[in-house]
Amino acid sequence: MNRTGEDAVTAERSLAETLRCFRCDRQYPFTTDAYLCPACGPGSPSDDPGVLDVGYDYTAATRHFRDALESTRPVGIFRYRALLPVSVGGSDLAAGNTPLVAADRIAAPLGLGRLYLKDETRNPTRCLKDRATAVAVAMARVAGSGELYCASAGNAAISLAGFCAHAGLPCHVYVPSYASPERLAWLEAYGADIHVSSGDYDSAYAEAEEAGQRNGWYSRNCAFNPFLVEGKKTVAFEIAEALDWNAPDTVVAPVGDGCTLAAIGKGFRELRKLGLLDRVPRLVGAQAKAMRPMVRRWRRMPGEDSGLTDAASINVRRPRNALRLLEELGHAGGDLVAVTDESIGLAQARLAREAGIVVEFTAAAGLAALDSESGAQSRRDDTVVVVLTGGRIDR
Ligand SMILES: *Cc1c(COP(=O)(O)O)cnc(C)c1O
Ligand SMILES: [Zn+2]
Repeated sequence: MNRTGEDAVTAERSLAETLRCFRCDRQYPFTTDAYLCPACGPGSPSDDPGVLDVGYDYTAATRHFRDALESTRPVGIFRYRALLPVSVGGSDLAAGNTPLVAADRIAAPLGLGRLYLKDETRNPTRCLKDRATAVAVAMARVAGSGELYCASAGNAAISLAGFCAHAGLPCHVYVPSYASPERLAWLEAYGADIHVSSGDYDSAYAEAEEAGQRNGWYSRNCAFNPFLVEGKKTVAFEIAEALDWNAPDTVVAPVGDGCTLAAIGKGFRELRKLGLLDRVPRLVGAQAKAMRPMVRRWRRMPGEDSGLTDAASINVRRPRNALRLLEELGHAGGDLVAVTDESIGLAQARLAREAGIVVEFTAAAGLAALDSESGAQSRRDDTVVVVLTGGRIDR
């Protein structure tokens, strides 16, 4: 990589320049210790938090992004350091670099031209969450913080615990009362400090934020810490690179807090800004029928959700990155759909039987959404990517 120019990406200085609040639209200069918007804060249960969005020097990034890809090192998300808020990883566990797998046997009955599965089960702790954790551990190093925390339905906590185990850092994880014994066993194996909330994910989130801010630990809460979505957007970079810098027509992923799908949208938009793509894909998000607050908001449907779903990793009553996702859907076009647990179960079985990939229940929601949509449009010429977000089997 060319490091001679003044705008070269170095360990100390990334090309990040600005932070903009999704709620009030205020813009701030980039700082590595930013968290929520100082003017908006965490919001209230009926209100959105002031989540910040990182902007870069895209002119400089255009010069450096592809150069960095020529080098075979590092493996994983830090290849894309020209568009990350930190350019050197804090752990040698390589997040990302996962395969994009053609799934012809599934594509044909759905009437799709081409279907690819982005196999995120191949991350170090078997989940897409590792992409955000890799950035968190690197940023914690920059911030001089030696301890990290997060709230999680399981996967983010396990991801944090794994990366902290590797880096030799203590971590504090807050999980809901219904966290499965399998997930707790993973956390114990990694040696995390485990707090089981008496309530749901939303309670665990509040407890984690309270303890984390009080103790000065570094946050791995992806919706609040503005830098973590930057790690997740590398999924889009890898998909585009695997398709020789072509955008698929549609990308589908499950939606909990909204960070993952919004991050994917941002990643594709940035590649278009850099001149590497001439269009962006349509984004389709999947929620469980029994917990679909984002679908309701998108379609302006009133009502309450029972929360009775086995899709534990997206069982989120108060999505904390809703504004980011809604803005991203506005840019890309797309849809949010609710799918039944029955259809998720069928999709999970189909992924194993017809693609050879075993995913966790939640991660099959994307394929279920595609199935529910099919027939509505003719898509014989379309290239569709379904993001298989995690592979931890606990039911
Ligand atoms: C966290 C998670 C999601 C949803 O991501 P959000 O950023 O919360 O929308 C989807 N699938 C799996 C397996 C997850 O762990
Ligand atoms: Zn704000």
